[in-house]
Amino acid sequence: MAKVLRCGDLMPGCNFVAEGKDIAEHAKTAHGMTAIPPEIAKKVEAAIKDT
Ligand SMILES: [Zn+2]
Repeated sequence: MAKVLRCGDLMPGCNFVAEGKDIAEHAKTAHGMTAIPPEIAKKVEAAIKDT
């Protein structure tokens, strides 16, 4: 069972779909988030879906 995140749920216009730890890597490389603020982390958790 994989955790997936549709980045576009958080970042309109981004069509990246991340799995597991790729989420943090994508946020860092694509969106310049070296650290994820707590309020964003909550949104990320809410947006992550089990497949
Ligand atoms: Zn993205």
